[in-house]
Amino acid sequence: MTGFYPRELGMDETLPTSEQFAAAAVNGRIGKGLKARVPFGRGSLLAHFVGVLSNRILQHTLQVTPNIHLHDPYFVGLLSHACAPNCVLDMARLEVWALTDIAVGDLLTIDYAMTEDTLFRQFPCICGAPGCRKWITGRREALNDDGKAYLAKMAGCSGRNLR
Ligand SMILES: [Zn+2]
Repeated sequence: MTGFYPRELGMDETLPTSEQFAAAAVNGRIGKGLKARVPFGRGSLLAHFVGVLSNRILQHTLQVTPNIHLHDPYFVGLLSHACAPNCVLDMARLEVWALTDIAVGDLLTIDYAMTEDTLFRQFPCICGAPGCRKWITGRREALNDDGKAYLAKMAGCSGRNLR
């Protein structure tokens, strides 16, 4: 059993292992994602996670409270965003749970706006879910200028397609 974390962050058997998960390049996205190497049933616990607490929002932090962020660049900080995700985080218990059945090879996803008031960086989304928000922000922040311009351009494109 090989842990996902450096030894100093923990050796608990509830932490993820590289038999269960693999970091993988994700097409069309910046950085890596995580894929399942074993199946998980809907409603099951995938793993606990750990990290270092910070008062700053970084690329791989997750919000614990509005002023406390957990920095985990090894596991949970690598989860990709999707507007209809297959996982959800419990930030009080530091657990990842399956929202749907997850098959071997599936990319693990969460909705970043479920945990984050403010994102490290807003970004366009092409997840393809029927309810895709197209531009992802934290749950308590407004669209930035890039987001406004992006959505206006998208609206312009779909308008042309209708003619
Ligand atoms: Zn989306």
